[in-house]
Amino acid sequence: MKRKALIAGNWKMHMNTADGCRLALDVAARKGTSSDREVLLAPPFTILKEVAYALKDSGIFLASQNVCWKEKGAFTGEIAPNMVKDAGGSAAIVGHSERRQIFGESDVLINRRVKGALAGDLFVILCIGETLEEREAGKTFDVIETQIREGLACVSAEEMARVVIAYEPVWAIGTGKTASAEQVQEVHSFLRQLLEKIYEKDLAEQTRILYGGSVKPTNVDELMALPDVDGALVGGAALDAESFGRIINFQ
Ligand code: PEP
Repeated sequence: MKRKALIAGNWKMHMNTADGCRLALDVAARKGTSSDREVLLAPPFTILKEVAYALKDSGIFLASQNVCWKEKGAFTGEIAPNMVKDAGGSAAIVGHSERRQIFGESDVLINRRVKGALAGDLFVILCIGETLEEREAGKTFDVIETQIREGLACVSAEEMARVVIAYEPVWAIGTGKTASAEQVQEVHSFLRQLLEKIYEKDLAEQTRILYGGSVKPTNVDELMALPDVDGALVGGAALDAESFGRIINFQ
């Protein structure tokens, strides 16, 4: 089954308004017209609106890097789904390993965010992945199964049409160490089987599973050729238009 590829660039805590808009326009200029792929950018909250304006008519989607489960209220430091939409976003990244590791976000909290984003009519990129310690202890599959089961608790099959999974081994993020093609395919195929167990076969076949962790122009073609890899979540290389331009134009 052919799933439409999604290449997502996570800008993390980088870019002011001028640099962000310049980068977005440069990416848009490099985006081809092929209908087999989609491109998404996740700028910091503060420049979402300006980047959305710069990208209007480009066909590039925008996401926030996190999202709250409430529409409004006393949630200092958070952003509501309707605020993301108001700024021009249609999706949210949830459960990024930096949120889990640095800010202590648990699977329970991440599940609230996933459900809140879906209720607020956003698409969700749910990030999961094991640490090096967990991989070396042979716990990779247990860890990601828990993250999927808890992260997607009470998410209906219908809502899953708006969920993308991003497998991001923590040891590969920002380290220059990419997981091998065998390691990536093994986990992605496990994830697809897990989705089939939790939901059903068609849904598992239709759900896009991205890989993230030091994706670069030099390794994107090999990763995208794997049968269960449907795209990439890119950090460092998304900050450079030439690199990201090559990634979105993977072969
Ligand atoms: C990420 O932050 O999701 C990521 C994959 O970063 P990098 O591409 O820099 O490893």
